[in-house]
Amino acid sequence: MIDSKKILEWGIQFHGHKCPAMPLGIRAGLEALSILNADRAKNKELQVLAETGKGHAAGCFLDGVMAATGCTYGKSNIEKLYYNKMAFTLIEVATGHRVRVALKSDFFEDALRSPFVQQRKAGVEPQDIPAEVVDPLIERIMSLDAQQFLDVKLLPDEVPAMKKGLFETARCTICGEVAFVDKLRVLPDKQLACLPCSGYNQ
Ligand SMILES: [Zn+2]
Ligand SMILES: [Zn+2]
Repeated sequence: MIDSKKILEWGIQFHGHKCPAMPLGIRAGLEALSILNADRAKNKELQVLAETGKGHAAGCFLDGVMAATGCTYGKSNIEKLYYNKMAFTLIEVATGHRVRVALKSDFFEDALRSPFVQQRKAGVEPQDIPAEVVDPLIERIMSLDAQQFLDVKLLPDEVPAMKKGLFETARCTICGEVAFVDKLRVLPDKQLACLPCSGYNQ
């Protein structure tokens, strides 16, 4: 049984400030886990394809999805599609079971009219927005029924291709730093160089 209060506390620490979007991501992530009957990822048992982007309101949503699902950038089992939409697909790698979870359009448009977002629009940093504004919003989000704010859709199974983790390294002959070999490049004099030293773009 996942303790959503604990994840919320931990999520706020990880995220850095209190806001409504991060807890929405927690709720959505927990809902996706429960639909797939999956546990939070310890390693790469799950993947998230996130439809959020960058530089738009409510992008904090994704930190909540990461906190809930255990899909993180460090483990490389989350990817952003940059559709600038409040949605993601959670995939169970072994079975290919997939569920797409999105904020309901009406709910999200309403949320964008909240006093929190008004203050953000006016240039107030999230950490400077008073607790009496943000706390009730978070409390409400944590107690909503999932059907009130989430659209959930099971997608046809599709087992994702998995790459084996790479362990092999070498030193760049120019800067001396260690890089994993798939990003080392061979220079015209046959020496190995890391990507930034090599002058190649990729
Ligand atoms: Zn936030
Ligand atoms: Zn180098």
